[in-house]
Amino acid sequence: MGSMTSCWACETELRPEWKFCVHCGVPVETEAAATPRVRAASPLALFGWIFAGIGLALAIALVVIFLASQ
Ligand SMILES: [Zn+2]
Repeated sequence: MGSMTSCWACETELRPEWKFCVHCGVPVETEAAATPRVRAASPLALFGWIFAGIGLALAIALVVIFLASQ
């Protein structure tokens, strides 16, 4: 069951010989082909959040340092 491929759209279990999902009709992608696309998108979004967090922390730190130096 763990080695069975599931449809990425409707999660129906797919047979290896199937070229498309018999339930919803989307083309079947192997895990190897589908995984890089998912991993390529998430680091970019992650970098955006990291830089936003760093920028916010830096701004707060600068304000605290400025107020403490008065
Ligand atoms: Zn499907």
